[in-house]
Amino acid sequence: MSDQTQKGVVGFVGLGVMGREMARNLVEAGFDVRVFDVIPAAAEACLAFGASPAASLPEAVGEADVVVTMLPDTPQVEEVIRGPDGLLAHPPEGRLVVDMSTISPQATRRLAADLAEAGIALLDAPVSGGPVGAKSGTLSIMVGGDANAVRQARPVLEAMGTTINHVGASGAGQTVKLCNQLICGINLQAICEALALGRACGVDLSQMREVLLGGSANSWMLEKLGPAMIEGDDSAGFRIDLMFKDLRLVLEMAQHENVPLPGTSLVTSQYIEARAHGEGSNGNQALFRVYDRMSGQVRGRVTRDAAE
Ligand code: NAD
Repeated sequence: MSDQTQKGVVGFVGLGVMGREMARNLVEAGFDVRVFDVIPAAAEACLAFGASPAASLPEAVGEADVVVTMLPDTPQVEEVIRGPDGLLAHPPEGRLVVDMSTISPQATRRLAADLAEAGIALLDAPVSGGPVGAKSGTLSIMVGGDANAVRQARPVLEAMGTTINHVGASGAGQTVKLCNQLICGINLQAICEALALGRACGVDLSQMREVLLGGSANSWMLEKLGPAMIEGDDSAGFRIDLMFKDLRLVLEMAQHENVPLPGTSLVTSQYIEARAHGEGSNGNQALFRVYDRMSGQVRGRVTRDAAE
């Protein structure tokens, strides 16, 4: 019996910016990882680090002890679960699914209930930390669902993240993740405003960022995205389109719960503006382009190695 067989089989679905790196960490931790993506080349590229590309979803998940999904949005997760090739029609051997995508908490609860009827546990386990955290296996993972299933999934989660918190019942992981995104969006907007004002006043923005990092305005966004914003590097890490999707989910949840979120509503409008100007595939830091346009600034675009 190989080490991989002893650790167990993971069926991994969705090998994009995040999924590819997470699958690599599972292989490095000793799991037998079978990968599937609607883009066959994305799965085949995982051969290079020892995962086994599958030609179909049922082939990737059939013998899996745990299935991990890392997909763009709710409709794709629903397709993988409810579709003709999906997990309800082709249950994985281990009957445990961990959805690490960021999707709707309400849809998550509905999916968990339908899977439970088929004897399959669903955990929502969205992540924070971006492509860099995915690559280094240091993601922060927010888990919702049944405690026994969380215990069972823990070795798989520990191969991808360092901060793993079980935050409540089904959907709670997504709720916490969306609260995280609300803070990230408004924080990024605050940084854009400070940079726009500092620039107009003739302050050296790189020096200003250094100073702010040492005080109470410090944040992950300022630290990781600040340099790319200042240099005009829009290359994608976490895409504008994905952040817009997350903010839309925040507002849907707020509407459902009757909670006014004026700050989130405003920054969501700015993401709509950014997308209308073709920034959707650019990294989140391209929100600063909205402020360029509002203040009549024209800046060039530079390309560095992968923005975070
Ligand atoms: P991505 O678009 O790069 O990757 C998604 C992958 O899923 C693609 O390869 C796509 O082909 C595949 N896919 C789509 N539909 C599919 C289907 N039905 N079956 C199989 N494969 C399918 O997205 P990403 O950046 O890796 O993000 C994935 C999720 O993680 C999103 O929900 C995102 O919001 C969240 N997230 C992303 C980041 C980040 O920094 N990129 C950070 C935290 C959370």
